Amino acid sequence: MNRKYRKTVIAGNWKMNKTPTETKAFMTEFKTIMPRGRWCDVALCVPAVCIPAAVRTMRETRIGIGAENCNANASGAYTGEIAANMLLDAGCKYVILGHSERRQYFAETDETVNKKVLKVLAEGLKPIVCVGESLQQKQTNITNEVVCMQTKAALCGVSPAKVTDVVIAYEPIWAIGTGMTATATDANRTIAAIRAAIRELFGDAADQVRILYGGSMNDKNATELMSQPEIDGGLIGGASLVAEKFEKVINYHG
Ligand code: PEP
Repeated sequence: MNRKYRKTVIAGNWKMNKTPTETKAFMTEFKTIMPRGRWCDVALCVPAVCIPAAVRTMRETRIGIGAENCNANASGAYTGEIAANMLLDAGCKYVILGHSERRQYFAETDETVNKKVLKVLAEGLKPIVCVGESLQQKQTNITNEVVCMQTKAALCGVSPAKVTDVVIAYEPIWAIGTGMTATATDANRTIAAIRAAIRELFGDAADQVRILYGGSMNDKNATELMSQPEIDGGLIGGASLVAEKFEKVINYHG
């Protein structure tokens, strides 16, 4: 299936940036400049305490608000954690899972990511599952093996009916926040390999799974990356923190 049959997704990842007050200011500004067309899905994944302000300000717009993580359990004695149904009730549509920063600093593993994916899907949210290789793995030419293994592990036990709710973000770790991007050709090739791995598990449903590129994507390089047939959108960190820049990424086609 050609990419034109998959709806583009542009998602922002604010990481640990902005207060609720700053969130309200950003969303208020963004609402006035965001593109009016309906041609792509736009998500902003924000710190948990900013979700109410984001949801309130973006009500009646087509921007979906998301979280940056959640716990795999339904409820209980997990001090400091947030369950998927809480995010849903707060108005979220998306949850980023398995970001490399969480894998690096918070002991996230393929197994915990998988449990979270299953829980998030069961609650009716869309997981944005991050996969990506380190610089060392890239230099030893094992990128495809690494990202395909991470993808298959994340999707273990997902039903064929639900797999199309999953969004995968291919994010080379060495490209995140560094100003270095994968070349459009390399990113396209790796995403094609991820899609082939999904096809092994889910057959032709793989053609409907949206796979994004992330890693220093911005208003300058979005058009080239997005012109690739396998790249269905972007997960944007730094460039999603400034309303004008994020709007330009969404408007990548000119
Ligand atoms: C990210 O954090 O997912 C990301 C892609 O960050 P940046 O765009 O800043 O590289």
